[in-house]
Amino acid sequence: PAAIDAAALDRWVRAFAAAVAEHEEELTRLDSAIGDADHGANMARGMKAVVAKLDDAAPAGPAALLKQAGMTLVSTVGGASGPLYGTFFLRMAAAAGDVDALDQAGFAEALRAGVEGVVARGKAEAGDKTMYDALAPALDALDAALGGEDTSGALHAAADAAAQGRDATTPMQARKGRASYLGERSVGHQDPGATSAALLLQAAADTLG
Ligand code: ADP
Ligand code: MG
Ligand code: MG
Repeated sequence: PAAIDAAALDRWVRAFAAAVAEHEEELTRLDSAIGDADHGANMARGMKAVVAKLDDAAPAGPAALLKQAGMTLVSTVGGASGPLYGTFFLRMAAAAGDVDALDQAGFAEALRAGVEGVVARGKAEAGDKTMYDALAPALDALDAALGGEDTSGALHAAADAAAQGRDATTPMQARKGRASYLGERSVGHQDPGATSAALLLQAAADTLG
């Protein structure tokens, strides 16, 4: 079960799209408290376009699939989250390279490259109350579980860490993105991007184990 090929990544991306659609109102509600109330619509529109492209023609390998997802997000989603999630998938694609399938370590490496892309693009640091606060702990949990045979367990640990990271954004004061304009008034609200990022990791645990 460790081989993560294009079919597995297709399942992951579709599961993320379904989760985003299911949580669209929640993401919008969170963004209405500390942003401009469009995170649900942004992510739903972007992931719907990603799925439409997959329905059109399934890319042959992991890198091609991840690249197509990234390009589609960059071109269909305005605002902060489109370029950030787009860069995430594009950097994952570059790290995956020309292989038919990723093993657990290869997937963890690609995921790390994706998150490094988010940081390169958005300059967020831990504690800034962004998607990075859900993504970073997930990477660390995945790395800690590496080497074991249990890919599913490792991915579930990563998803749990992302959910904890998401919850931990509530007491933070935002220092990046629109929410930062609110200053202290951003405290006490869960970050929308960290919430969608936790859905991304949960989708991985549900489909890639
Ligand atoms: P916008 O803020 O442009 O309306 P969205 O509402 O779709 O875009 O996305 C907002 C989310 O993007 C935030 O909740 C936060 O998690 C994330 N975000 C914003 N700026 C950054 C950044 N510089 N680095 C990482 N994530 C960011
Ligand atoms: Mg917004
Ligand atoms: Mg916006």
